Amino acid sequence: MKKKHMTNSTGKSDYYFGSGPASLPAEVLQEAAAAIMDYQRSGLSILSIPHRGKAFGQILEEANALVRELCGIGDEFEILWLQGGGRLQFTMVPMNFLPEDGVAGYVDSGHWAHEAERAARYFGQTDIVCSSAGQKYCRLPALPENLNPDLSYLHITTNNTIYGTQWQAIPRFDVPVVADMSSDIFSMHRNYSSFSMFYACVQKNIGPAGVTMVAVRKDQLERTVRETPEMLSYTVHAANKSVLNTPPVFAIFTSLLMLRWTKKQTVAALQQESIRKSAALYEEIEQNSMFTANIAEPAHRSRMNVCFRTVCSDMEQPFINKCMEEGITGIEGHRSAGGFRASLYNAVPFSAVERLVAVMKDFEDQNRKD
Ligand code: PMP
Repeated sequence: MKKKHMTNSTGKSDYYFGSGPASLPAEVLQEAAAAIMDYQRSGLSILSIPHRGKAFGQILEEANALVRELCGIGDEFEILWLQGGGRLQFTMVPMNFLPEDGVAGYVDSGHWAHEAERAARYFGQTDIVCSSAGQKYCRLPALPENLNPDLSYLHITTNNTIYGTQWQAIPRFDVPVVADMSSDIFSMHRNYSSFSMFYACVQKNIGPAGVTMVAVRKDQLERTVRETPEMLSYTVHAANKSVLNTPPVFAIFTSLLMLRWTKKQTVAALQQESIRKSAALYEEIEQNSMFTANIAEPAHRSRMNVCFRTVCSDMEQPFINKCMEEGITGIEGHRSAGGFRASLYNAVPFSAVERLVAVMKDFEDQNRKD
C-alpha cells in the first residue's frame, strides 16, 4: 500500500531536495503568505505595492544592508536586484567588462561555468585558464599559478550545482575576480570583499525564483568597457537603485524575509550545519552497498549538492519509487548528469537528511542479496 506523504503546516513535502527553486523555511512562507493578503496593515497586498513607494524603498534598503552585513562588505559594493536569472549575468558580465580586443579568463569547472564562458565569446576573447571537462567535471580543475595579468577579469563558479563540486577556498588573484555564487552563497564564510563582483540567482539560498542578486564594486563599475542598452548596464541599474523598470517586488520581498532568517541563523551556524548535513549523507553513500558517490572526487565534493548513483543502474527506478513512497522528492540528478542529487541548501533541515539516510538504509536492507 502506498504511504501518504508527510506534509508540514504549509502543505509541502517535508523532505524536498530540489536543486532550485529550493525549499524556504515555513516561517518565511507564512510571513510571505500573510503579506500577500495585507502588507503591514496597509490594506494593500505586497503584490500591489508601488515599486517607487516608501514601503518598497525600505524593503530594498534593508535587503541591501543585510547582503552587505552577511557578506562582511561595505558601501564599496553596489547591491543590485536584477531579472533574467543567473544566466543573464553570463551575458552582462562580458558585455560590461570585456572589451572587443580584450581577454577574459574562465575557470571551466562545470556546466554553468561553461555556459558563462560561451556567452562571453560574443563580446571578446576568452581564455579557459583551467578545465575539468576532460574528467567529466568530477573534480575541480587545478588553478594556474600564474595568470595573464592583462585579463579583463577571471570568472569562477564557486559551487558546481550539477556535478556536485565546490571551491571551499579561492586564492587571491591579481586580476578582478567575478564569481557566480548562485548555489552556495551564505552557506559558508568567504572573503567576499576579495571579489570585484559576485552574483547569485536567488532561488537556492536567498529566496524564490525571479530575481538575481548582484554585488559589484564601485571601482569595477569604473572598468565598464562599452555603452549598452540601459537594461543591460550595471552602472545604469546602480544609478537607478534597482528600479529602472518594475522589479519583481514579491521575489525581492521574500528574499528579504530569507535574509532576515539567514541573519537569525548566522552564516557561521549555517556553515556548521551544512558540514554536518553533507558529511552524514556522504558517509551513508560510502558505506551503503546500494550506492556510490563516485561522481565527485572526495576532496572536491560540494556541501550543497550531493551527487550519487545506485551501484546497479537497474536499482535507480526502485529507489526513486521508494523515495516517493516515503515523501522524499526532488532528488533526481540533472538531466545531463543522471543519477541522484540531494541539494542541501540552507533551508533544508538536518532532519530531512536523517530521513533520507534512514530510507537509504531501509532500501539496502530490502534489496541486499547476501
Ligand atoms: N549558475 C549556477 C551555478 C546555477 O546553478 C544556475 C542554475 N541552477 C545558474 C547559474 C542559472 O540560473 P538561472 O536558472 O536563474 O538563470
